[in-house]
Amino acid sequence: MTLAHVQMAREPGFDPKKLGKIANRKQEPWKMPLRKFIEHLYGKQYGRDRPAVVVSVEEKLEMKRRKKLAKRAKHKHRGPLPSRPARSRTMKGMMSFLHLFPGIGTRETRTATIFGGDRSLPDDSYGFIELYCVDPDCDCRRVMINVFSETGPTHLATINHAFESPANDDSIQEQTFLDPLNVQSRWSGALLELFKEIMRDRAYCERLERHYHMVKEALRDPAHSIHQVISRSRRSSGLYRKK
Ligand SMILES: [Zn+2]
Repeated sequence: MTLAHVQMAREPGFDPKKLGKIANRKQEPWKMPLRKFIEHLYGKQYGRDRPAVVVSVEEKLEMKRRKKLAKRAKHKHRGPLPSRPARSRTMKGMMSFLHLFPGIGTRETRTATIFGGDRSLPDDSYGFIELYCVDPDCDCRRVMINVFSETGPTHLATINHAFESPANDDSIQEQTFLDPLNVQSRWSGALLELFKEIMRDRAYCERLERHYHMVKEALRDPAHSIHQVISRSRRSSGLYRKK
């Protein structure tokens, strides 16, 4: 499928059923649609074109949980709010690459478009938003992918991918799997398969690793602006509020 076809498919009156099942958009010629898509995602979620702060899904869930606990405690007069539990390894901070490196992130975030009534997934464009761990002392060598649909936009699946296959004694034996602690939907299985298909593109795999190293290198450089981005995000999420 050529890019011209994909473009035609976006014009009204064109029958996308004539196209193949999956069109993997190459990034570079697609700067504008992709940027719009990303802005669309963030615009809907945060009510502005580019969020001042992106809170990770984990942080959002944790905030929700704490709010619920607070409400319950208040309601039942159970005394003080339970103290914040130790954050899990994940909670320690996965942050969206788009937020940490907006320019490169916008250009290099992968989207895939499904055409022609595929039975396992609705016709839509799907964005694979990368999150990396921002603990400078951790070398987990993995990426978390939040899959959003363009219409909605809705967070449909959370995929965990390790850059190396797991060792024999690792507790998790899969290299690429649906994250059991994060958002999933009825489409998760199909989106995991789609992601695995996309991962057959070596350039994309290498890009994910490159992004991971960019984040880690920036974390090691005390002068890098990434530190301000992270602390601003943490402050506004309320999880790290000083007493
Ligand atoms: Zn890590």
